[in-house]
Amino acid sequence: MARNITPREKDYSQWYLDVIKAAEMADYAPVRGCMVIRPTGYAIWESIQSQLDERFKATGHVNAYFPLLIPSSFLEKEAKHVEGFSPECAVVTHAGGEELEEPLVIRPTSETVIGYMYSKWVQSWRDLPILINQWCNVLRWEKRPRLFLRTSEFLWQEGHTAHATREEAMEETLRMLEVYRSFMEEVLALPVVVGEKSEGERFPGAENTYTCEAMMTDKRALQAGTSHFLGQNFAKAFDIKFQNRDGELEYAWTTSWGASTRLIGAIIMTHADNDGLVLPPNVAPIKVVVIPMSPDQNRLQDIMLPEAQKIVDKLTALLGRNRVILDTQFHMRPGDRFFYHLQRGVPLRLELGEAEMSSSCLRAVRRDTAEVLNISFDAVEREVPKLLDEIQRSLFERAKAFRESNTYQVSSFDEFKEVLNKKGGFIKAYFAGTPEDERAIKEATTATVRCFLLDDSSEGTCFYTKKPGGRLAIFAKAY
Ligand code: AMP
Repeated sequence: MARNITPREKDYSQWYLDVIKAAEMADYAPVRGCMVIRPTGYAIWESIQSQLDERFKATGHVNAYFPLLIPSSFLEKEAKHVEGFSPECAVVTHAGGEELEEPLVIRPTSETVIGYMYSKWVQSWRDLPILINQWCNVLRWEKRPRLFLRTSEFLWQEGHTAHATREEAMEETLRMLEVYRSFMEEVLALPVVVGEKSEGERFPGAENTYTCEAMMTDKRALQAGTSHFLGQNFAKAFDIKFQNRDGELEYAWTTSWGASTRLIGAIIMTHADNDGLVLPPNVAPIKVVVIPMSPDQNRLQDIMLPEAQKIVDKLTALLGRNRVILDTQFHMRPGDRFFYHLQRGVPLRLELGEAEMSSSCLRAVRRDTAEVLNISFDAVEREVPKLLDEIQRSLFERAKAFRESNTYQVSSFDEFKEVLNKKGGFIKAYFAGTPEDERAIKEATTATVRCFLLDDSSEGTCFYTKKPGGRLAIFAKAY
């Protein structure tokens, strides 16, 4: 069994890849930039998908499906959109043995084709709002691919909504940002900073982009999900018009929002350690593993196994089908069986051997802290859910404390560079620069504006231009 994970302190990128490999989460595909998501990784995606989907439906959205191929002329209808996406697009020029009259783009995102369809479906204010989400794959030809974080083909959801007023569309944009924030914090135990993107970092074609930014354990930032206020840009490009209550024709207001398989990378780079993956219980497909053991085959079959099955059944009734598993890899040594689940991040391991049988107490081992506890057979139903909640809470608190202890406020560019070089992390500063200033800062330091803080309306002198009226921003080196 592969136990050779490169220590995080030695080589962070290799550690990241080793964790993925040891847990058998993904593998490289024959085409550069593409990946195969293996069952352990895909189960995490299914868990993310089902829980996000539930939250989307609770906020009034429904799912639909739009096609993979988009006429290339569609992308050209919105000037900024085509400028932003064409370098990343893969284009189909031939099909059925012939050159196509019009090349087809493999969707990098679906605003254009969905805008086209909405223009057919929307006539009157009564047809609004449209609140649709789709789960699908998209393709963006990434130059620096990294498993889960940035792949050319990735899985995601994209919400696309159309509204009668600017206010409603803005409300929706911020509502979905909050859906992402609460999901990331409550389920993934991922503390995020919510904010507004600067002009230079906006989604191509958006009036405003809002983001959830997380700090990874190498102190770099990761954009975990984004919600875009598209204004009337796409409505004008695709002619999404409706008759308002006064009988006048108006353009609709649209939004879009997306989160992807990158979230799996965020989980790894927030919680995993030098032994492998660590999964927060709320997202873990398998929350508990019960491991019966005995050197005596007869006792194993007749005594340990039925007792272990009883425990699995009791916990399954509480935690749900397939959430608690029985390990029957009897051909392996106990230590290897423990390590198998440890590397895959299972939050809690319950061992049942001879000693546990005679004391009627299970040996419980937490994945996050390696802490060992004894839980009597009778107390399993009371103690295990409590322990899982405690693991969830403590992973979140640990990540939040890490972010807070690596966030610094600065007021000059010299101080900015010094903190960035010596300490890294998130740098808070008042900023009132232009996209050119953003580019110059990036060139000099490789750090980018992650966002302007949403929950802070204070103003201050810009650390870079020294102009007044700067908004509080977070800068960081980012993935
Ligand atoms: P966007 O619509 O471009 O804002 O993308 C929505 C979200 O998808 C982003 O916030 C990222 O978290 C994620 N994402 C963007 N590009 C990639 C990629 N190449 N691989 C994985 N996830 C991505």
